[in-house]
Amino acid sequence: MEKKKSKPKKKAEKSKASRPVHGKAVNIKAIDVLRKVGWGMDELSEKIIQNLERQKSVSEDAIARRLKMRVNDVRKPLYALAEKRIVTYEKKRDPKKKWWYLYFWSLDRERISGLVRETKMRELEKLRKQLEEERKYEFECRQCQKKYLHEEALESDYLCSECGSTLETARTTVTIKKLDADIKKLEKELELTSN
Ligand SMILES: [Zn+2]
Repeated sequence: MEKKKSKPKKKAEKSKASRPVHGKAVNIKAIDVLRKVGWGMDELSEKIIQNLERQKSVSEDAIARRLKMRVNDVRKPLYALAEKRIVTYEKKRDPKKKWWYLYFWSLDRERISGLVRETKMRELEKLRKQLEEERKYEFECRQCQKKYLHEEALESDYLCSECGSTLETARTTVTIKKLDADIKKLEKELELTSN
């Protein structure tokens, strides 16, 4: 094979280089997303995804070459990924062999950012439920730390059933504070990625 002459490098797009990067969502790696969503990938599929991450569209010959594999062997995992709608492909006629097609593969970025959003929404729901659970004990006994639901406090005339102390409004616990902060953070992120 002939060695390619090194082409003069394209001028780096200034606007791109100087653009500040806001939020992690912009740079998030497909593979990290998929791992987080719990879509188990075998090693080969992960390698393929990482390969596609670097470029907009890659021919399957190039993918095979980079992974030092035969084209036939990368096709199967590629189709499996396409079935999960993680990658898409485009058929182009081979200019050398007219009856032949070349396949160019790319990551389905829209789908992947959709998955990010879905994951975050699910996480948010989970945190909100936890917070609700944490907050349902509206009263507590400061002596023995026992917590009471609103109805329970009402029934016992706001007295602790253990030690008889007067019940007080439950304090905001560390757990609640943490949940609150996590929820706010996620809500902010979701706004950022939704535009
Ligand atoms: Zn008590």
